[in-house]
Amino acid sequence: MKVPFANLTSQYRNLKPEIDQAIDSVLDSGNFIGGEPIRLFEKNFADVCSVKHCIGLGNGTAGLFLALKALDVGPGDEVITPAWSWISTSEVITMAGAKPVFADVDPAYYTITASEIERKITGRTKAVIIVHLYGQVAEIKRIKEFCDSKNISIIEDCSQAHLSEENGVVAGAVGDCGVFSFSNKNLGAYGDAGCVITNNESLAIKIRRLANHGGLSKDEHLMEGFNSRLDTIQAAILNVKLPLLSVWTKKRIELAQLYSSDLTGISGITLPEIRVDTIHSFHLFVVLAEKREQLEEYLSQREIQTLVHYPKALPFEPAYSYLNHKESDFPVSAHLQNVVLSLPLYPELSREQVVYVCKSIRSFYETF
Ligand SMILES: *Cc1c(COP(=O)(O)O)cnc(C)c1O
Repeated sequence: MKVPFANLTSQYRNLKPEIDQAIDSVLDSGNFIGGEPIRLFEKNFADVCSVKHCIGLGNGTAGLFLALKALDVGPGDEVITPAWSWISTSEVITMAGAKPVFADVDPAYYTITASEIERKITGRTKAVIIVHLYGQVAEIKRIKEFCDSKNISIIEDCSQAHLSEENGVVAGAVGDCGVFSFSNKNLGAYGDAGCVITNNESLAIKIRRLANHGGLSKDEHLMEGFNSRLDTIQAAILNVKLPLLSVWTKKRIELAQLYSSDLTGISGITLPEIRVDTIHSFHLFVVLAEKREQLEEYLSQREIQTLVHYPKALPFEPAYSYLNHKESDFPVSAHLQNVVLSLPLYPELSREQVVYVCKSIRSFYETF
């Protein structure tokens, strides 16, 4: 049985008439920048997240960068961010002229914690970029209480956490702003796309200006900015998909439960734990696997595709060698990079495929 890591064409085939019609209507309108599909998406996505503002953008990385700029983060400032994440969350800090300060993550949940932020705080700390990794929300309430007491801004990277929740509050709605990517994520455009959500109106206007050459209309330039707008065609595609997001998320959660029950009791495997009072949206189903390389090879021979998110913790990437970090500075992240393994998980995956993956993993550990 073939189990590819992702299957974007099967989702497209299911939605082909609606998607094609949405794209056609943009092509017919002759309006490719701005317009109704974008306004509609921004309104509906803000509603889904129960926030006041959503600003559609070219991609998620630009959203993180613009959020820092809008919060006036720049030279002389430090921004705390997890050692265990995708590089977008730290590279934007450097690009904004500030210094990234890495914090290690929770050994059970793989997300940044209030206590690690507290350990890394200095007089120069201006903001934190927290990441709700794999779909698991970081302890946002505690982080918010701590950061409020120190007057530090919070940017929530929700690129992997569409519709994740803590205590009934959707990820992205607690910090100063939440940033989403729609580039191959749980809600995916057909190409790059992203947005920022916020309840802070002046921040929303500033981000919108920064993403459009410093103005809200064509020849207005109140400041310098750059160009990072959500494409009209991508917005039209997202408008077709957004109503399906909660059904897709439920499907992911069901399949994750199946994985967890079928993989229980295998001694080489550590299963993902879900923090209490949260909804984990399972962008990725990540296990910790002993003999990871051999397991990957074994599964690939059985036509099961797996990936590693991520092969190296950020402080150990060549891009950050100038910070001279040692593995002992980030023991959790240093361990995770050797053992994490992402199993296939998407709404179109069948229960039979999940059972087959679990059976194969079990037989690997029984054989070796
Ligand atoms: C995908 C991703 C991003 C970047 O999003 P793009 O739209 O590709 O720029 C940022 N942070 C995390 C955690 C991501 O997974």
